[in-house]
Amino acid sequence: MLFLAHRRGIIDQTSRNLAANGIALGMHGIVQAGREGDLRPQAMVQVASIDTLLARGIRSKTMPLPPADLIIFDETHRIRGRTREYLVSLYPDAVLLGLTATPCRGDGRGLGNIFETMIQAPQVAELIRLGFLVGARVFAPVDKDIAKGVRIEKGDYVVSALAERMNTTELVGDVVRDWLQHGERRRTVAFAVNVAHSVHIRDEFVRAGVRAEHLDGSTPLADREAILARLGSGETDVVSNCAVLTEGWDMPEVGCCILARPTKQLGLYRQMIGRVLRTAPGKTDAIILDHAGAWHRHGLPEDHIEWTLEVDARAENRTHEGRKRGEAPALRECPSCKQIMAAPPPCVHCGWEPRPRGREVDFLDGELGLVRGGRAVAAAYTPADKRRWYGELVALTRQMGKRPVGPTTSTSKSSAKSRPGIGKASKSSRRPRCAAMCVRARSPSRSGGGRHDIR
Ligand SMILES: [Zn+2]
Repeated sequence: MLFLAHRRGIIDQTSRNLAANGIALGMHGIVQAGREGDLRPQAMVQVASIDTLLARGIRSKTMPLPPADLIIFDETHRIRGRTREYLVSLYPDAVLLGLTATPCRGDGRGLGNIFETMIQAPQVAELIRLGFLVGARVFAPVDKDIAKGVRIEKGDYVVSALAERMNTTELVGDVVRDWLQHGERRRTVAFAVNVAHSVHIRDEFVRAGVRAEHLDGSTPLADREAILARLGSGETDVVSNCAVLTEGWDMPEVGCCILARPTKQLGLYRQMIGRVLRTAPGKTDAIILDHAGAWHRHGLPEDHIEWTLEVDARAENRTHEGRKRGEAPALRECPSCKQIMAAPPPCVHCGWEPRPRGREVDFLDGELGLVRGGRAVAAAYTPADKRRWYGELVALTRQMGKRPVGPTTSTSKSSAKSRPGIGKASKSSRRPRCAAMCVRARSPSRSGGGRHDIR
């Protein structure tokens, strides 16, 4: 059996899992640069780095390819490509089993030119229900079209152009601000566009007093492991990276993900958010801070994805496409807690719902007359009474989340004119002055209200 992976972390993890299941190191061999001591050419099980195997077994021919009648290809969405497909083609009689959470190419097309059958494991929503993954709260603090107009090549944004768009003082500052506001100081992984952007994010966090580190493809292995160990222990709060931790990296304790890298690739998006959906003791959910507008393009983590083997078709989030066509409630940001709501209000996270639109009521300012002898007689109120009522009205206005307009301390006649909701006195002075308490409920759109949550 030959297990193929393209990342050191996956090879280590697989080797440990084999040992834990009775196939100790020695009974399985490892083919990977720097681990010559773990070579066991006679072992029935081989765990191999694809790149090392390609280099030694095909390019330099310094070692024979290990025999296999079962090949397990991990992160198999990466199987496409001339050399990898060639490697697999050298085992025409072996059963090929590909593993991936995102069975598609970068552009979303299926892998049907390599595989005959796709066996679908439960999807994210089901795994959350079964307790294998946690749900996510998605905050989307940026314009959903943040990457609009950025040049596209081979189905995704051109990195240099994308970095130019994203790596600005303002946007990186927002990343830090929003993390402080919504990130609950959880252990966090940030995905940046390129190295400079990732370093910038790290620097801004450090400037804000947050323990943050950066890693990229050129970070020496020992340093990378030390950085991730500090994240694991909680010594570091945020690790910013560029294309290193996107897949095949497993640290369930990480509870927050910052998406600062817009992508048109559904697979890449789901790989990035997948890093924080693993369960860990005490972890009840994940937080996704989407600075990339990815929710708008790709939908929510728990949406059902229609994967396909067809090379001429693409994986599709039909729920989300339905939202775009108006067949399902559109995703929107909760005005109160800023999380993305998948269903109409009330918000499942904070309970916010729009207040019913009040009827506009005509009113006359005045005082409630006291009925004496069959007719209402205006009561005589002292200035102190009036001051007290006005104070109560101001408090009520504030409680409704609105700003009282006009002076808050005076009850003089002149100031009463300028107060909204308190009109002129009755037209006829003979008529008893009537109901004075009048609150004109306004629709949220007109007043700017409704952004506040009254509970
Ligand atoms: Zn809410």
